[in-house]
Amino acid sequence: MQVSSASSKSEFTNSTTNVLPKKPTESLWLPRLTEKDFKLYSKESYDKKSYVAPQTEKCATTVKLLRPHKVSDDYLDEYLGDTNTENRTVDRDLNILMMNNLIICHINESPHCNVPHFELVQETQWGLGWIWELKCTKCKFISEKYKMFREIETGRPGRKSASINYGFQTGVINSNIDYCTIDGDAKSVKGLQEAMQEVFGPLWSVNRLADTIHRGQSQFREGIRANFSVGMFPGVTKAQKNDIKTAFVNDIKLRSHGIMRSLFMKYNGDRQQISKCLPGIVRYVVNCYSGNCGDTCRWSITLCNGGKKTSWWYKSINLNSHGLQNGSLIPTDRDKLLIESLLEMKLSQSALDQMKFFSNTNKCESVNRTISTYLPKIRISPAMP
Ligand SMILES: [Zn+2]
Ligand SMILES: [Zn+2]
Repeated sequence: MQVSSASSKSEFTNSTTNVLPKKPTESLWLPRLTEKDFKLYSKESYDKKSYVAPQTEKCATTVKLLRPHKVSDDYLDEYLGDTNTENRTVDRDLNILMMNNLIICHINESPHCNVPHFELVQETQWGLGWIWELKCTKCKFISEKYKMFREIETGRPGRKSASINYGFQTGVINSNIDYCTIDGDAKSVKGLQEAMQEVFGPLWSVNRLADTIHRGQSQFREGIRANFSVGMFPGVTKAQKNDIKTAFVNDIKLRSHGIMRSLFMKYNGDRQQISKCLPGIVRYVVNCYSGNCGDTCRWSITLCNGGKKTSWWYKSINLNSHGLQNGSLIPTDRDKLLIESLLEMKLSQSALDQMKFFSNTNKCESVNRTISTYLPKIRISPAMP
């Protein structure tokens, strides 16, 4: 704002009375007004071609109002505006990294732009993740593109997946499958899976593999499908034998899970140490099921301590409820191979490798919890991002 003939000591404040010159003989330059202040002091002229300041009308000198800067200092107003109400989920550390990088790049490119004002110039969505490109409105600086999410190494060619999508998928999918299971409607589960695949892409099938619960289910399925010899299970009728087979396969599943949990506790999650003892454990468990339960059970993690009341045969609900004791099962060599491969579905290096994915989704558990708490308990339509 330019005010002719004013006191040089006059201080500029937002108070309207102080704007007027105190001594009408001196000229004074005041800083250009912000848009907000400009609206307070100005009025459109009669011809609507310029602005006048009504408060200076009685002033003897000429007062010239300069239009406000386009860039407002009222950032708060800007952020409260209608266009700035969207939320984004960004990685905390990547966000800090971006801020530091942005400042350094801006200084290098525009050394004379002292107080930058950054705005989003472009953002690209990648599932729940975002890629940002920023510009400085005070100079011509445009930043590089910043990925605001972490990526997952899928081992496949092509674009990498954002870990946030991965975790979200697992959470949403699991909660929805639970929901559908309660419905007892197998068809809707299948439909949902197809819908999810369409929405989330092929990564969805990786999730299925990664989920230990699902792996357990397929271990059960493979066990039921397995072609054990006729003499393996006691029982007179085919139905009796099948009944015992189901109990045995259930037992394999439960025992594998328990062994893995014990190993994680014993070795504090050290995968290298765990994988080293897995082959031995599988061998000993096969021995145990074959009736050679003894020292090998006692001195390794098979969940069996040998003997009678301390043996797995006695402790296992599945085996005990069907009257199975040490020596009840008579597996052939081929049967032993089948048992071994069923155990290896959970107790092997490759099973451990797949569990890496599982630990990855665990990190997103808090997000899943938030989402499942706040999302309405309805089926999620394929229209979701
Ligand atoms: Zn700048
Ligand atoms: Zn044993």
